[in-house]
Amino acid sequence: MPQNSDQSQPSDEHRQDLRQRAESAVADQIGTSPVEQAALSAQAWAELVHELRVHQIELEMQNDELRQSEQALAAVRENYFELYELAPVGYCTVSESGLILQANLSAAKLLGSERNKLLKQPMSKFILAADQDVFYRLRRALRDHSGPQMAELRMVSSAGTETWVAMTATAVQEDEAQPERRRSGRAVMRVVMSDISQRKLAEQALEGSRQSLLQAAHHTQTILDHVGDAVVTISATGLVETFNKAAALMFGYAESEVLGRNIKLLMPELHRSLHDHYLSNYLATGRTHVISAPRDLEASRKDGSEFPIRLTVSEVDSGGRRIFIGLVRDMTQDRRQLEEVHRLAFYDPLTGLPNRRLLMDRLKQALINSARSGAHGSLMFLDLDHFKQLNDSLGHDVGDLLLTQVAGRIQTCVRECDSLARLGGDEFVILLEGLSVEATEAAAEAEEIAGKILKALREPYRLGPHDYTSTPSIGIVLFLDSLDPVETLLKRADVAMYQAKAAGRNAARFFDPAMQAAAFAHAELEKELRQGLIEHEFVLHYQIQVGGDGHTHGAEALVRWNHPRLGLVQPSQFIPLAEETGMILPLGQWVLEAACAQLLAWSKKPATAHWTLAVNVSACQFAKPDFVATVAAALANCGVQPNRLKLELTESTLVGDVVDLIAKMAALKAFGVGLSLDDFGTGFSSLSQLKRLPLEQLKIDQSFVRDVLTNPSDAMIARTILALGHNLGLTVVAEGVETAGQHDLLADMGCDAFQGFYFSRPVPPEQLMGLGTAAD
Ligand code: C2E
Ligand code: CA
Ligand code: CA
Repeated sequence: MPQNSDQSQPSDEHRQDLRQRAESAVADQIGTSPVEQAALSAQAWAELVHELRVHQIELEMQNDELRQSEQALAAVRENYFELYELAPVGYCTVSESGLILQANLSAAKLLGSERNKLLKQPMSKFILAADQDVFYRLRRALRDHSGPQMAELRMVSSAGTETWVAMTATAVQEDEAQPERRRSGRAVMRVVMSDISQRKLAEQALEGSRQSLLQAAHHTQTILDHVGDAVVTISATGLVETFNKAAALMFGYAESEVLGRNIKLLMPELHRSLHDHYLSNYLATGRTHVISAPRDLEASRKDGSEFPIRLTVSEVDSGGRRIFIGLVRDMTQDRRQLEEVHRLAFYDPLTGLPNRRLLMDRLKQALINSARSGAHGSLMFLDLDHFKQLNDSLGHDVGDLLLTQVAGRIQTCVRECDSLARLGGDEFVILLEGLSVEATEAAAEAEEIAGKILKALREPYRLGPHDYTSTPSIGIVLFLDSLDPVETLLKRADVAMYQAKAAGRNAARFFDPAMQAAAFAHAELEKELRQGLIEHEFVLHYQIQVGGDGHTHGAEALVRWNHPRLGLVQPSQFIPLAEETGMILPLGQWVLEAACAQLLAWSKKPATAHWTLAVNVSACQFAKPDFVATVAAALANCGVQPNRLKLELTESTLVGDVVDLIAKMAALKAFGVGLSLDDFGTGFSSLSQLKRLPLEQLKIDQSFVRDVLTNPSDAMIARTILALGHNLGLTVVAEGVETAGQHDLLADMGCDAFQGFYFSRPVPPEQLMGLGTAAD
């Protein structure tokens, strides 16, 4: 009996047992004789049939199992095919020497080749030349390290298509990789390749946009770094997030010192303590006075110094974050320029004193003040005497030196509350306020201050290498609650100043309405002088010069103005004005030409052919660079011998640039022109300077001649000048000789020549001819 009771699930043992029993049963049947067969009981057959039946079922079940296994196997095979051959990755086994030993279909597809053609091919053949070293490194890494190694490289198919591949290589034993092959124990490489072209493309696109973003950022940074303005961005909590180059330069901090710190760092103490409050208040309420409209503020540098800035703040949303962009402009330069503009508009650049504009302003205010307080004020107009001569002879730089020193000295004479202004040139105005309510007392106060100024300005000046003395003329006008416009007051002070000049300069004068007419006449004269030059209204008169022998040997040309209304005007009436206005230049030129024409006329008459003619030359004429050439041209034009001409220079001519002066004089002398020093004794020429000058003659000033008989010191001066001149090898001529006594005394002293009313007054040329011959 089968021991097995559970037929539905026969065990292997049971199956085995069944099989043995069935076999023996059949063997029994075949080997048994019919007798024996008959002897078998029906019971036994029944059992046998049953067992056979069971066996049959068993076999059927085994068949089923087999079929199922086959099906499963087919499924696995199919699965394997899908998994291995059609896997989304390429799979190869590569030998140690780099040859492809095995490849799945995906690998074949990837490498663009039939599988069998791949085999035994070097793997490197399918790797892009540029990535060969990547593959090489991968293989080396595999050798040197345990575990799989990864690399990304480009493979090329047989058709030349490039594919980005992520390659994972694992070292395995050859038999492990190919169990069906003969066991060699050699190491091979199992390579898995996945196509990452799509990813690479995406990466490249990403990199591209990253690059362009970087470029854009770089571009923005470059712009930010090159804008002159500082650009600082801060977070909503006030922390600095960016700080451009200009900001670093402006504030003196390196970018790294500022990033992440509170913006307060860049603010002066005052703002610093309030900033947090401002910011939080703004964030809470949206109220601020900084955002949008630019604001002029102070900022603080690293060194603690403060400077003016113009700040423009914008609020921006940066990726959902609130940030503030501050544009900071350094206003130091602008402020300086503004101050400079103000200074230029209201102050005299040379002396730093208020100019006319500011003075007028202050004068208006002073009038209001005076009306309110009842106190007098005073306006003084000050002009330096002979300033033009100094400027012309020593140059503007020296003139400027004097002006600055004068300004300084005046300032010491006035009170804090008074104003000193420079109108231009050598014109200063002093505005005194708060004088007495009594007119006479106020006048006395003003006069006292004017006196102080006169005294202060009279002191010698040191102008570089030059010693110089100067005097001013001051015009004074008083005002009280004046209804006159400020311009009128200034005009009156100006008129008074001319009155001071007319009174002999170095003086102060109060405005006198009666004399205003004279001042106007003065202005009129200037206009007429201009006109006179055009209309040829000037004439030369000649005063003869007589030698020690009593013979006339020449004359001095003295200019006169044949005025259509005033008649013959003497030079003292117009020469100073001509010098002041520069009109002496065209006038002097005319004199020179007229004198040469006269010499030409004389040269044609035997009685006068040997005469010399002295011509007066003003300092500013001589200072002209082309003076020597002008003289030479005038002589040449008339064809006159240069030694017939003598130029009379005054000591004011000698104060200029000594080198230039000597060069000019030497040139004139070399040319043959004589040089005489006029009015000698009244100026400041130093003896040492005199020695260096190529002079020919000294002219004793007529002021010494006038009293030479009565004033012993004048006689002494005359004697000294004669000795001095002769010692220097010069001839000495006396002018203003009116009497025989004067002539005789001077002749006794050794005087070489004489000029004066005693011989003749200056006369027109036609009267001269008779004179010359008569005197001879
Ligand atoms: P100056 O060069 O010293 O001329 C001599 C002045 O003394 C002349 O005055 C002359 O008339 C005057 N005079 C001559 N003899 C006597 C006398 O015996 N007694 C008195 N009291 N005076 C006498 P004038 O002509 O009025 O000239 C005055 C000044 O004008 C000249 O002084 C000279 O500095 C200047 N001047 C005249 N003509 C010219 C000129 O063409 N060019 C320049 N730059 N200045 C000139
Ligand atoms: Ca003269
Ligand atoms: Ca003279």
